[in-house]
Amino acid sequence: MAGIYIHIPFCRKKCTYCDFHFSTTFSSYRTALIIQLRQEFQTRIHEITAPIASLYFGGGTPSLLSPEELGSLLEDPKQYTRNQAVEITLEVNPEDLTETNLAAWQALGINRLSIGVQTMNNELLAWMNRNHRAADTCKGLNLLQQDAFSVSVDFIFGVPQQTEADLTAMLTLVDEYPIAHVSAYALTQEPQTLLHHRVTTGKEPQLNDEQQVAHYHFIERALRARGFEHYEVSNYAKPGKRAIHNGNYWKGKAYLGIGPGAHSFDGKTKRRWNVSNNAQYLKQQDWFEEETLSADNQWNELWLTGLRTQGGVPMARLEAMGGLRTKEGRMLEALIHQGKIHVQDASYCLAKDHWLAADGISMQLFRAGLKD
Ligand code: SF4
Repeated sequence: MAGIYIHIPFCRKKCTYCDFHFSTTFSSYRTALIIQLRQEFQTRIHEITAPIASLYFGGGTPSLLSPEELGSLLEDPKQYTRNQAVEITLEVNPEDLTETNLAAWQALGINRLSIGVQTMNNELLAWMNRNHRAADTCKGLNLLQQDAFSVSVDFIFGVPQQTEADLTAMLTLVDEYPIAHVSAYALTQEPQTLLHHRVTTGKEPQLNDEQQVAHYHFIERALRARGFEHYEVSNYAKPGKRAIHNGNYWKGKAYLGIGPGAHSFDGKTKRRWNVSNNAQYLKQQDWFEEETLSADNQWNELWLTGLRTQGGVPMARLEAMGGLRTKEGRMLEALIHQGKIHVQDASYCLAKDHWLAADGISMQLFRAGLKD
């Protein structure tokens, strides 16, 4: 099964910590960009041969598009997914959860909302330069009818001023509303962000690793106690509610990425990424790059993505790639002996206590680094 990702590179404001690709001044070319997204889809859909399991509108802020604009972007994908049960996710900012929008999104066939709650502390939301406040989140969630959408929320933890009381306030949403999925991300300090500038000029404290680890475990305990499965380092789901779209990324399935900054993968060896520049994307000149993954890079990616998930790295996939070499076998045995990796359902899985160190442990099983 394959997925389609459509990137909407527009936002109302620039959040302090964000390094995604978006623009806040887009009114003059908004329509042209939507036409270009449709053209790219029509030109490239043949690259996907597997049945489509998911369609994901990400950004940026896809929920700032009008229902008519979203409907236009859905016309082509719907032709290709006729008669298939497809997960259609819309990333939503809380201020866009209005009665009118919800009814329109449901009528368009959107069946999953990924809502950027981030925190319920208004001071932290202001510090993040978010456009919404906690009251917008509550007001929007109150409008959700049971079963109209599968609802996921995004939380951010490890913010310097954040307390466990703040974490409790956001986790309480899970008790009060029909939320089936949570993505909880540690705040990171990315280059080219206002947060990075403030930290490096001494206006904000450094992010605190110990606090981030404590918050991670606090959230994990709380969500497990509420019946959520922790199925990927940053993702939790009620039984049967795992994200199909992101799950396919982690399983190495094919996906087609449409829009500026979007990435694609053919499910085998070929990766492509579109330019993160709206003007260049519109002109379609020098607007994407491609690479073919070497066998070593495929091996490394399998460990990197697999060990971050509950399902781990299937032995059958390692065998299909030629199997473990002697040194790798020894390293794996050592990691098993140390209690970091165990075998479950014919897969190598990372022990839960070590999930936060998943990337570092994967690298111990890498071949020749990520690049050739
Ligand atoms: S709304 Fe999302 S994509 Fe836009 S600036 Fe904020 S975090 Fe980034």
